[in-house]
Amino acid sequence: MADHLVYEKETDSTSIRGLCKGRWLPKMRGNQETAVIKCPLCGEVIYLTDHMIDENGVVYPAVLCNHCTWMAWMRLDGWFR
Ligand SMILES: [Zn+2]
Repeated sequence: MADHLVYEKETDSTSIRGLCKGRWLPKMRGNQETAVIKCPLCGEVIYLTDHMIDENGVVYPAVLCNHCTWMAWMRLDGWFR
């Protein structure tokens, strides 16, 4: 969908500390593959463990920051199953 924010996969770092805003890092939760991002407004680390990510990288439902008012529908570019 055109109104989804597109997040690119982080390639410069494998750690959350080095994760840039607007990018995502793969993360394992048990045997579930998920992702982590940072809020573009406040920098809060947001785990997508409670979200569904489809084969195109579209995240359901919208992502919310618990630290500020940021909310967005997003797609994780480079997401593969
Ligand atoms: Zn925030």
